[in-house]
Amino acid sequence: MADTDCIVLGAGVIGLAIARSLARQGRDVLIVESEDQFGSGVSARNSEVIHAGIYYPTNSLKARLCVEGKALLYAHCREYGVAHRQTGKLIVATSANQLDKLKALARQAGQNGVHDLHWLSSEQATALEPELQCLAALWSPSTGIIDSHGLMLSLLGDAQRHGAQAVFRTPLLHGERLDSGLLKLSFGGESPTTLTARTVINATGLQAPDVASRLPWLTNLAIPKAWYCKGTYFGLQGRTPFTHLIYPMPDTAGLGIHLTLDLAGQARFGPDTEWVDTIDYSLDPDRSTGFYAAVRQYWPDLPDGALVPAYTGIRPKIGPPTAPAADFLIAGPETHGVEGLLHLLGIESPGLTASLAIAHHASQQIDRTLT
Ligand SMILES: Cc1cc2nc3c(=O)[nH]c(=O)nc-3n(C[C@H](O)[C@H](O)[C@H](O)COP(=O)(O)OP(=O)(O)OC[C@H]3O[C@@H](n4cnc5c(N)ncnc54)[C@H](O)[C@@H]3O)c2cc1C
Repeated sequence: MADTDCIVLGAGVIGLAIARSLARQGRDVLIVESEDQFGSGVSARNSEVIHAGIYYPTNSLKARLCVEGKALLYAHCREYGVAHRQTGKLIVATSANQLDKLKALARQAGQNGVHDLHWLSSEQATALEPELQCLAALWSPSTGIIDSHGLMLSLLGDAQRHGAQAVFRTPLLHGERLDSGLLKLSFGGESPTTLTARTVINATGLQAPDVASRLPWLTNLAIPKAWYCKGTYFGLQGRTPFTHLIYPMPDTAGLGIHLTLDLAGQARFGPDTEWVDTIDYSLDPDRSTGFYAAVRQYWPDLPDGALVPAYTGIRPKIGPPTAPAADFLIAGPETHGVEGLLHLLGIESPGLTASLAIAHHASQQIDRTLT
């Protein structure tokens, strides 16, 4: 007999969404988080954009779960009163050699099931955003912004209403598989403890590869190495002339230094990309030089001195800078050979948008491992 049916490691948006999904299925769920509150990792340091599903390779988990997750997320926000706004966004080509890439993005979006994009001429784009400079733009009406903390609160609340419990300041140290098939986990923190469970979900974000290495992994497939790609944000001092999100062309590690709006209408720019060796959220104000140059490609009138340091986030990558961005890796027994164990690895953007779809997908995979 297990101490608890399911243990979800990590109380970020992914762990909370999965915990809620399992609790709503009537499973007995314990959420275990190493920090003293939910949502203090990657989920607290992102752009808070509801992505349309444009960029990702055809049939990738990122593409499928983003498109599915976007619809689920808008419906969830309406049902649970989570603050959000469907702002729409413009992806802009600012030089002639970007026009073909913009067309390729439009084709990719169509292959991903995003059929609502519109091609805008420079005049049409500036009619929407008079201060914008571009040769052409793609208009994505289904893109939006969300209060990510409010989303996580709604997920935790609903999970708890369905019987889930959460404990904090309790880091997983290691785990083993017992002959009975149960997983036995050891936790540190102020009150070190040991618990057995039938199902364990590793949703520990940046630490997920490390946590995977502390749990049994019985196949020859390698545990992915964690790579960290930091993104810095600068806020705009004063009022923004923009009312929609503005994205330049994406690069390999990120979506380019874009303009997003928060729900109060304040603009911020970022994130840029900086590969780092450690999880360090300090912000280097000198990076603003690169921001002025990048933003002025599409907003030439950005005033000197208008950018103020905001915050940084770190992308939980599972591939090196030289490789194309890896897909989400939702690794069950077929990958590591351990019944009842699921790892969520490399859940970078669009993980927030995809969270409810990831939870659905993960719950189905868990059901399969138990039958
Ligand atoms: C710069 C940036 C911008 C982004 N922008 C967007 C966006 O606009 N739209 C979008 O859809 N997505 C975006 N994302 C992606 C999105 O933020 C992530 O996919 C999502 O937040 C990942 O959530 P998570 O629950 O996996 O990780 P986290 O939120 O990090 O949660 C993991 C939790 O596990 C805990 N933990 C760690 N180790 C242990 C342990 N040993 N024991 C117990 N608990 C542990 C951590 O404390 C943490 O609370 C962005 C990401 C970044 C970095």
